[in-house]
Amino acid sequence: NAGHPRLLPSPARFLVLLNPRGGTGKAFSLFETHVMPMLTEANAHFTLLVTERPNQARELVRERDLSAWDAIVVMSGDGLMFEVINGLMERPDWATTIKKPLSILPGGSGNALAASINHYSGHQQVTGTKLLTNCAFILCKGHPVPLDIVSLTTSSQQRIFSFLSLAWGFISDVDIESEKYRFMGYARFSVGTFVRLTALRTYRGRLSYLPAISSSEKSSSADRTETRVLEDSLVVPLDQPVPSHWHTVEDQFVLVLALYQSHLGAEHFTAPMVKGPGEGNIHLFYANSRISRTSLIKLFIAMEKGTHLDQEIAHLIHVPVVAFRIEPSESTGIMTVDGEVIECSPIQGQIHRGLGHVLSL
Ligand code: ADP
Ligand code: MG
Repeated sequence: NAGHPRLLPSPARFLVLLNPRGGTGKAFSLFETHVMPMLTEANAHFTLLVTERPNQARELVRERDLSAWDAIVVMSGDGLMFEVINGLMERPDWATTIKKPLSILPGGSGNALAASINHYSGHQQVTGTKLLTNCAFILCKGHPVPLDIVSLTTSSQQRIFSFLSLAWGFISDVDIESEKYRFMGYARFSVGTFVRLTALRTYRGRLSYLPAISSSEKSSSADRTETRVLEDSLVVPLDQPVPSHWHTVEDQFVLVLALYQSHLGAEHFTAPMVKGPGEGNIHLFYANSRISRTSLIKLFIAMEKGTHLDQEIAHLIHVPVVAFRIEPSESTGIMTVDGEVIECSPIQGQIHRGLGHVLSL
């Protein structure tokens, strides 16, 4: 009965992992002023762990006994949640531990999961401390619901687990190049977008995908029992051609984005068709070099309100898929998973519907 809401024990016990360097570096004081009073009010117990370095959270959730906590709470951007999910998937008991409810409190500059959960919970799109207060409320009052996780494999056989996105081209360029404007908070993405627009790059490569509609093969939790590793039943090894019923586009791309939640950022309502965290679809967006700068500007402006798909922007394609493969022709360029840089080389992935759990209203 994985799809049915169950409640957390009362009083709930949370493990809070907080990155003091996330966003503009105010996560700790925001936790004290905005979150702690609500947790006290809700009679919740929590252990606060302030991270001291990258990968500490990943190692901690990989190695520790987590049974003392009912949920793992991440107060940072999407990067720290990425660490937590990958750490959980590296455990020998991943199949049961990945079911532990996760919760996100926006304390970074990229707060896409927080914005998505805020949206699914019926709240208006907000940012800053409003988004934080909404998410703290969801933490106190929410219940665990299924969360899709995409399993990715690189050409070096590395396994990466992703809850949000894979980007290649424009979007990952902006995400990473705007790191130097971190002091601006969320505005770094708008500034970064305009900087990149003035010097548009294109990337040659091949994009292959398995459309969601044509596949009755949607993987569900049922076919995963008792396996030592999570099996990707929809894909063939990267050194073999994709199955014949897949679609392939070979082109000069400006952007390729695979997104599985509604928001790509707090003010990027990129996939408005996504109504919940466990729908089982990867939303693939791509544009080739024929897209104009004007169209791209239109796209990023309309995306704030999620109206970009109603505007029929020429050369922007959206297709719901369940698996995909990206084969860049050159290794130059930036690829990101959940906003974190990975090696720019062939990669493929498939969705695992509702593999994890996240707190939502
Ligand atoms: P933001 O959205 O602001 O980038 P993230 O949650 O994505 O916030 O965090 C960015 C990176 O910071 C992550 O890759 C994470 O591993 C790393 N990190 C975690 N704790 C620390 C720390 N104490 N000092 C520096 N970096 C850290
Ligand atoms: Mg980040």
